[in-house]
Amino acid sequence: MSKPIVAIVGRPNVGKSTLFNILAGENISIVKDTPGVTRDRIYADVEWLGKNFTMIDTGGIEPDSSDIILSQMREQAQIAIDTADVIIFMTDVRQGLVDADARVADMLRRAKKPVILVVNKVDSFQKFMADTYEFYNLGIGDPIPISASSKLGIGDMLDEVIRHFPEHDTEEEEDDRPRIAVVGKPNVGKSSIINRLLGENRCIVSDIAGTTRDAIDTAVTWNGKEYVFIDTAGLRRKSKIKEELERYSIIRTVTAVERADVVVMVIDAVEGITEQDAKIAGIAHDRGKGIVIVVNKWDAIEKNDKTIYKYTNEVRNTLSYMPYAEIMFVSALTGQRLVKLFDMVDTIIENQTMRVQTGVLNEIMTEAVAMQQPPSDKGKRLRLYYITQVAVKPPTFVIFVNDKELMHFSYTRYLENKIREAFGFRGTPLKFIIRERG
Ligand code: GDP
Ligand code: GDP
Repeated sequence: MSKPIVAIVGRPNVGKSTLFNILAGENISIVKDTPGVTRDRIYADVEWLGKNFTMIDTGGIEPDSSDIILSQMREQAQIAIDTADVIIFMTDVRQGLVDADARVADMLRRAKKPVILVVNKVDSFQKFMADTYEFYNLGIGDPIPISASSKLGIGDMLDEVIRHFPEHDTEEEEDDRPRIAVVGKPNVGKSSIINRLLGENRCIVSDIAGTTRDAIDTAVTWNGKEYVFIDTAGLRRKSKIKEELERYSIIRTVTAVERADVVVMVIDAVEGITEQDAKIAGIAHDRGKGIVIVVNKWDAIEKNDKTIYKYTNEVRNTLSYMPYAEIMFVSALTGQRLVKLFDMVDTIIENQTMRVQTGVLNEIMTEAVAMQQPPSDKGKRLRLYYITQVAVKPPTFVIFVNDKELMHFSYTRYLENKIREAFGFRGTPLKFIIRERG
């Protein structure tokens, strides 16, 4: 099941970043071992009382452009409505209730998503509590007083947030249709690819009834089987605020990737692969999702017999942390190879859900250890006792060792390669958990 998404919305300077940073805590370094990925404070993984969720900060409004604040807030709120399971609407007791708050509250109320109304900067409950009552006028429920900077009231607020999470999302649990997120920079051809797949190939398009996301996902039938494309509305509705494009496209990416089985990462062949592409791909890698790199606009470049080889190398070099990713060369314009995407998605999902027997895994490990001695430090050598697969999506392995400190990243990578040599697992990351045997 995908993790719930919580978005913070509010005017500039009410304290959104302050709250976000507190909640994100140490998890703020989003992608730890993915090179080329900047640590944007846009999203973070949070845990409260054993519930995990992804927090997004829709912020980034320019505080001194008061005439466009409202339109930017609307945009923020729309992103939150499209993507979040719960919305935290933050106001400021010191600034009081302002007109823009009321307008955004109207918008959130109509969206029928759970909204938690938070009044920040209540640094002293005695002094400011009475001032929070005016926020009842927004008509979106009880205001929850907090002080982000003094960390007051945060626990009560989080209790309220997780109370609104779906108990268990039976809809998604029973739904075994492959879920596909098409991601990539602006203008690489995401919408064109989706429109092609939905349109000209005469797929049957039907909206998904009964979910809170029905307006934004699209189901498609291909070869008698249904596939769900995530956040197709988000791709059609392009951001009006140019300078915020990158932030918003990252938010959309994170929330779509979170709900996907397989991520279709689109790259523009004319432009070649860039650092920003690496950053976006890193989101899928970090979240353990299946991935296929789709090099689009293949019609638009001059080719000879070495072109595919050259492009493959460039992609592999820039995305060196995901050698398992599949690569396809397509054209949304001509439709070339595009429908092969469905078979690719099927294969990747098979790999994501593959289970390897413990006996076989231990044979591979024993052989690997015999071929390359494990590392040692200060006279102590790493000993590997046992390996077993504990989960799928992504395939997750626990390795029991004598001393965790001795298990170098490079040796884990070596074992990963051995497992991949035997079973492929193409298109999916693998996760390794190292445990000491007591
Ligand atoms: P954002 O623009 O909504 O992200 O707001 P920030 O998090 O950047 O905060 C704006 C200002 O309000 C900063 O100077 C913060 O230090 C201050 N601030 C944030 N939370 C509190 C709070 O609980 N009490 C007080 N007094 N100030 C706060
Ligand atoms: P998005 O922002 O990623 O959704 O990109 P769009 O689908 O809006 O495409 C951006 C531009 O690239 C448009 O002008 C498209 O017509 C063009 N485009 C998309 N796919 C292809 C393709 O396969 N070949 C060529 N030559 N142009 C394409």
